[in-house]
Amino acid sequence: MRWSQTLIPTMKEIPSDAEIPSHQLMLRAGLIRQVMAGAYTYLPLGYRAVRKVEAIVRDEMERCGAIELFMPALCPAELWEQSGRIDDYGNALIQFPIVRGDRQVHVVLGPTHEEVVTDLIARQIKSYRQLPITVFQIQTKFRNEERPRFGVMRTSEFQMKDAYSFGTDLEQLNHAYDQMYHAYRRVFSRCGLDYRPVEAESGPIGGDASHEFMVPAENGEDEIVHCNSCDYAANTERAETGRPAPQIAAPAQMAQQDSVHTPKAGSIEQVCNLIGCEPNRMIKTLIYRVDDQPVAVLVRGDHQANEAKIRRALDADSVQLADPKTIIEVTGAPPGFAGPVGLSCPLLADHDVVGIVDAVTGANQKDTHLSGVNIGRDYSLENSHDLRMATREDPCPRCDGSLELARGIEVGHVFKLGTKYSTALSALYLDENEDKHPMLMGCYGIGINRIVAATAETSHDEHGLIWPLSIAPYQVLLIPLNIDDEEVMAAAESIYRDIGEQLGSQGVDVLMDDRKARPGFKFKDADLVGIPLKIIVGGKGLADGVVELKWRTDDDARRIPLPDVVATIGEEIAARVAIEAEAVPL
Ligand code: ATP
Ligand code: MG
Repeated sequence: MRWSQTLIPTMKEIPSDAEIPSHQLMLRAGLIRQVMAGAYTYLPLGYRAVRKVEAIVRDEMERCGAIELFMPALCPAELWEQSGRIDDYGNALIQFPIVRGDRQVHVVLGPTHEEVVTDLIARQIKSYRQLPITVFQIQTKFRNEERPRFGVMRTSEFQMKDAYSFGTDLEQLNHAYDQMYHAYRRVFSRCGLDYRPVEAESGPIGGDASHEFMVPAENGEDEIVHCNSCDYAANTERAETGRPAPQIAAPAQMAQQDSVHTPKAGSIEQVCNLIGCEPNRMIKTLIYRVDDQPVAVLVRGDHQANEAKIRRALDADSVQLADPKTIIEVTGAPPGFAGPVGLSCPLLADHDVVGIVDAVTGANQKDTHLSGVNIGRDYSLENSHDLRMATREDPCPRCDGSLELARGIEVGHVFKLGTKYSTALSALYLDENEDKHPMLMGCYGIGINRIVAATAETSHDEHGLIWPLSIAPYQVLLIPLNIDDEEVMAAAESIYRDIGEQLGSQGVDVLMDDRKARPGFKFKDADLVGIPLKIIVGGKGLADGVVELKWRTDDDARRIPLPDVVATIGEEIAARVAIEAEAVPL
């Protein structure tokens, strides 16, 4: 491709509305342009990177035995009513009526395709003999994200690879899951990403049933916890704190319980400032609605409650913070003054609450707290649970190491679904005895665009992007320094042609910067766009019979005799591809 014939609108200035490096660089390098909040056009360079990621994903899906199909983005809302997700998804689900002749059809734009694929399999597969099967597609997904941001990291329309496995039993599900997990490791390695599989919310199967693949990045939207000595890693929702359940008993020595006047001090910080205590001496009492019943959740003042853990501890379907009206009904006080003493609703306490001696907590009375509150005397608990977000003070739940916090970008997710959709949509199979059972399903997503954004976020320097060969829009950038110099152009044209003819089958693709522009300008753009290998053809070099070769990551260019240049390009790229391939798990 010739630069003059494509569309690569590079920008010198940093766009003011782009907050993070990947967004800035993808705009500046002419990969994307915004259409509206959360919607972007991929320009030719950006789209080539997307297509290369897609090809890798497709290749690995096929390698692990998944079969490609293609489902429509526009789906009947009826299926979503059957699964119940029409309500669960809330505002993120884009749905509307369309007119068909004299009737209205209610449709949704698929944010994922469990409903459609389960309905398909329910109709086409009847017997255990036809299972297991895993299908996948690469399709546009729609989600009305509340806060689309960071460029193409989070958009309302994006390319997802979604795969679904169907099997007869847990063994088939586990096998499909393990194969997919392995395929994901190969995908992200081949894309050149540094990534970490982390344990995520387990859902109905429990245990080790869901992993997210995270690319560590300061600007990542997800928070993860990982051990500094073993490979335990989990998202913060899921992360265990590694604290054993304590013995519940009243402390040997305790102060008197006292009432403290705390006007307008409804937050932990305000109370601590007012009465001079440390947050870890406070019991934070949060009123939740758990399956519509009020529950008071107790965590230490310096800890954050974890709703997923609360849901698991109570085996509940829904957990949400109570509204002010409920809080007043339950505690008799406005929000900010709840405490466990004398509360009539059920108490659910975190392990770390049990050990607080002479605690400070709300008095269930406006502008009042209690000090000297102790378990066994002032309130009682039968047991305690892990109910909070892990922190870096926590021990690892798997070894003697300790936990660290990091941020990450979620590029993929694998999940053992169980029978949720197969039951709702009647995907049943007959076993050897002609008995019917719901199929066991898994679902597996990869954000194609997000891989490109995550690469831009984690692979750049102050001058611009640095692509790995595998997903670079072009592998080679050929720069004739002066397009008015006939000799230079003749040499560049012949290199351009020979790369196509001799190395095209090896996957080498080339972009020639044939613009009439100063060398300095072209070099700046070259660094910004970040094509891995640069070949520079100039009059001075040609006089010595050489052209210059420079990798994006090298400091200096090397001089290569003109007749050897295409072979050298082929050899060096092949060598680097081999090194990249060595990092891919077998
Ligand atoms: P997130 O937590 O980031 O909103 P999710 O957990 O809702 O994502 P999944 O349903 O697991 O997303 O979708 C599979 C993959 O699709 C994600 O791992 C992510 O890489 C990608 N993805 C999800 N939402 C978006 C989006 N709005 N824009 C781009 N990619 C997305
Ligand atoms: Mg996810």
